Amino acid sequence: MPTPHVYKSEALVLRHINFGEADRILTLVTPQHGKISAIAKGSRKVTSKLASAVDLVTRAQFVLATGRELDVVTQAVVQERFDHLRESLWHATAGYTVAEALDRALAEREPHPDIYVLALDTLRRLDADADAWLADPTPQNPAGPTSRGWAAMRFFDLVLLDLLGYRPAFHTCVSCENPLQAVEDNGFNAELGGAVCPSCSRYAQRRLPLLTLKVLRLVQTTEWHALPVMRLDQRTRDDVEGVLQSILSLNLERSLKSWNLLH
Ligand SMILES: [Zn+2]
Repeated sequence: MPTPHVYKSEALVLRHINFGEADRILTLVTPQHGKISAIAKGSRKVTSKLASAVDLVTRAQFVLATGRELDVVTQAVVQERFDHLRESLWHATAGYTVAEALDRALAEREPHPDIYVLALDTLRRLDADADAWLADPTPQNPAGPTSRGWAAMRFFDLVLLDLLGYRPAFHTCVSCENPLQAVEDNGFNAELGGAVCPSCSRYAQRRLPLLTLKVLRLVQTTEWHALPVMRLDQRTRDDVEGVLQSILSLNLERSLKSWNLLH
C-alpha cells in the first residue's frame, strides 16, 4: 500500500454529510487544489477538535492525507467563521447559496483561485452587512437584506458568470448584435446568453425593463468598492434576481435550492 501523501491547504467548507456514527464527509474548496472531498473522522463528537472547523461556510487551515477514495482530514484550525452572517436568516441563506453555487460550478480537483477569492470576498461582504443590519434592523423590511447585502449577491452572480465564461450581454442584442436602446421593451434570453432588442422580441423569454437593465449593467461594469448604494423597489430586485437566476441555473444545471427556499 502506498504511503499517504500529507498536504496542507486552507479551504472553505461547501457541504457536509453525516457518515457512520460520528464522521462527516466534507466538500471543500481550496485555492490551489480546487474542490475536494474529504472525511473528517469523529468530527460530530462534541469533544472533537475538528468539530468547529467542519461547519458550513467556515474557512479553516486543513491538513489532509490522501486516501484511496477520500482524503482524510488530520487537522483543521478555524480561520474565519462569518459569525454575523449566521445570525440573520437572509444572510445565512445567501452564504449557503454562495457555497452551493461553488459546489455546482466547480469540478473536483480543478483549481479556480479567482472563484475562491470571489466567494471569500462575498462572504465577508455579507458578514459585514449582517453585522450592520443586526445593529439596526430596517423596520420596513425586518427579514430582508440591506441594499448592500443584496448588491453583494448580485455582484457575486455576475462575476461568477464572468469567471465561468458565461458573461451575459447587456449592451448589444444577442440576436441581431445591434446596440441596445434605453427603452422599456427589451427582453432577455438565458439560452442565448443576454438581452434581445424589441425587433428580436420573438427570442425574449422574459421582459427586461429599463431599470432592471440599468442595474445589471451597473453591477456588471463596476468594481465592488465603487458600486453606489442602490435603493430599489422589490419588483426591480425580483426582476434582476430573476434574470440572473435564469442564466445561473441554466449554466449551473440545476436551480439553486437555497435561494428558492428563501423566496
Ligand atoms: Zn435584436
